[in-house]
Amino acid sequence: PLATLNDPTLLKTDALIGGEWVAGSARFDVHDPATGLKLADVALLGAADTEAAIAAADRAWPLWRAKTAKERAAVMMKWFGLLHQHADDLARIMTAEQGKPLAEARGEVTYGASFIEWFAEEARRIYGETIPTTDNNKRYLVLKQPVGVCAAITPWNFPIAMITRKVAPALAAGCPVVIKPAEATPLSALAVAELAQRAGMPAGVLNVVTSNADGSIAVGKVLCASDTVRHLSFTGSTEVGRILAAQCAPTIKKLSLELGGNAPFIVFDDADLDSAVEGAMISKYRNAGQTCVCANRFYVQAGVYDAFVEKLAAKAQGIQVGNGFEPGVNQGPLIDAQAIAKVEAHVADALGKGAKVVVGGTRQGERFYTPTVLSGVTGDMLCAREETFGPVAPVFRFETEAEAIALANATEFGLASYFYSRDVGRIFRVGEALEYGMVGINTGLISTAEVPFGGVKHSGLGREGARQGIDDYVELKYLCLGDI
Ligand code: ADP
Repeated sequence: PLATLNDPTLLKTDALIGGEWVAGSARFDVHDPATGLKLADVALLGAADTEAAIAAADRAWPLWRAKTAKERAAVMMKWFGLLHQHADDLARIMTAEQGKPLAEARGEVTYGASFIEWFAEEARRIYGETIPTTDNNKRYLVLKQPVGVCAAITPWNFPIAMITRKVAPALAAGCPVVIKPAEATPLSALAVAELAQRAGMPAGVLNVVTSNADGSIAVGKVLCASDTVRHLSFTGSTEVGRILAAQCAPTIKKLSLELGGNAPFIVFDDADLDSAVEGAMISKYRNAGQTCVCANRFYVQAGVYDAFVEKLAAKAQGIQVGNGFEPGVNQGPLIDAQAIAKVEAHVADALGKGAKVVVGGTRQGERFYTPTVLSGVTGDMLCAREETFGPVAPVFRFETEAEAIALANATEFGLASYFYSRDVGRIFRVGEALEYGMVGINTGLISTAEVPFGGVKHSGLGREGARQGIDDYVELKYLCLGDI
């Protein structure tokens, strides 16, 4: 699938350290999840290369931070333009290694690029403040300064956006970065890094250390243990987030963590049902259910339960599953065999405990799973507690508003949540009661570069995007000026 790129030189397979492409002493294979075929072999780097990348970033720091915000923004805007210019190729690379349908991949390129544009604009607005004095002989000032070398460890479900959302605020603030992309999707990361080079990013400001699953553990250890690295941003599972946080404790690093979710999607009796079904489709089946904000549990009030299940099943049945390069396909493969196994386990568990398959419930070939709706789902089932991360919609029945809120909050996670209601009082009550970082009300799509994305409880620390997305990449410095 990569033979037809308009610009074949975007297909990079070496890592990027200090402006040089590094082949490494070993390589690892990257596969097309739709076919299982090998796409490329990529540099498998380890601990020593990671040290080299950190050192390169550290050397680049003084020059990058010394540039004016406008100068940094100019490089970023050029990079942003190049992502758009090469959007078709980037989408092809992404579909090939990640599996999402081409149109969805194209959408991610636009979404991923939007973080570069947004933070390039925000670079010039990293304002400090002056504080009214309590002593006329003194003045108090607060500066915001770049935190230093930043590390980013990113997942495979959004191979470009999860990188730009971390790297763009770092660059805007004046920090260099070392990126460790997911082992399943390094080609998208390297293509985007190549475009940063073409945009004139100074050597060492943006480094990409690629590795396989085992190697990533070694790379992660070095990034966490380094005293030079002053901030680590991670998106991925809560389990790995916990490991990284522990590894970062000795160096008291700043941490941004965007971890697992278990998003509830509540439909009240007073909801616009067609709109709720439409929102459910987007929230559940996008990226084959492999996003951390995908609805994981549907709670539907008794009065509309049957109608909702029927309408959702009818729509889900219309999803065309297949290779993301084929026209008309709107759901690709799951990322790997483990992902399929988890979906199958959740469905089998639910059926074993009394749930019913309304539609779907089957694997197609090795890597595809049919869009599924389960009814009669109860709280004792695995899908009520764990993120399925696949195209399965378990639908629970509830009676009262208080019950729905209690069920939605009965999880250690707190990333995204959704509810549908046309009652303004209820919208405020439920919106305020949900223990989540984000609440979608009468919509299934909430993310954009301008808003603070992030979770509470075991779903993470910090916010990405928005004005606040810069905060984790700067330190406040207080200047106390005496002898006025
Ligand atoms: P997912 O469930 O999305 O695969 P993971 O949390 O397993 O998420 O992985 C997300 C990212 O974290 C990937 O880049 C992966 O290589 C990396 N990773 C996984 N385990 C570790 C680890 N122990 N140390 C450092 N990075 C890790």
